[in-house]
Amino acid sequence: MSAPHRERLRTIAGYFLAHKHLHGAGSFDINDHQRMLIAVQACVPLLMLGERALRGWSDVIVYPGRFKVRRQRHLAGGVITESDDVLIGEAWERGPLILSWADIEHDLAHPWDGYNVVVHEMAHKLDMLDGGTDGVPLLPRQVSRKRWIETFQHAYDRLATLVRAGQPTHIDPYAAENPQEFFAVVSELHFSAPHRLRQHEPGVAELLHGYYGPSPAPL
Ligand SMILES: [Zn+2]
Repeated sequence: MSAPHRERLRTIAGYFLAHKHLHGAGSFDINDHQRMLIAVQACVPLLMLGERALRGWSDVIVYPGRFKVRRQRHLAGGVITESDDVLIGEAWERGPLILSWADIEHDLAHPWDGYNVVVHEMAHKLDMLDGGTDGVPLLPRQVSRKRWIETFQHAYDRLATLVRAGQPTHIDPYAAENPQEFFAVVSELHFSAPHRLRQHEPGVAELLHGYYGPSPAPL
């Protein structure tokens, strides 16, 4: 990162640590070094957006590893099914950010592999700022909302078509779940494998560059 960006990151991460309550889940304890590592990664996407993008929630809950959540699904005819999902991260609207420490450590050891759980969940948090998640966050004036929707929709459709056909993809097939997951997954690519995104979805890469600013990844 450039010196001004590093300085800005330090300021926003300081704000994050002062305003968010970062704690372990249950008997799992985290120390200040772990808090700092989480805060810095959470704030890398905020260099253009600033501290204001952190409004509306306060807790970061850290599990030692992957965690299970019980999900209820409401089906037609009043049928409710329950299942356990195993997650590495989760973001609740106006609620906590929940993370697996083992997966954060993996990301720190492999920063340029295209994955980053903290960035992924922060992208969901940014998506939620305008109420509801749809893969279209509140955009700064210099980024056209119309162009964003068209470009992301086309890229999402291309990926979903490949996934349905069982074809290999350059973007994690999980992104084809829905437009909000697509936004979170391509955000991970912007920060940890931007060349791959630029090569395969240049329009999306350019919009994310306008939204997040330059990627810290080496060229
Ligand atoms: Zn997600």
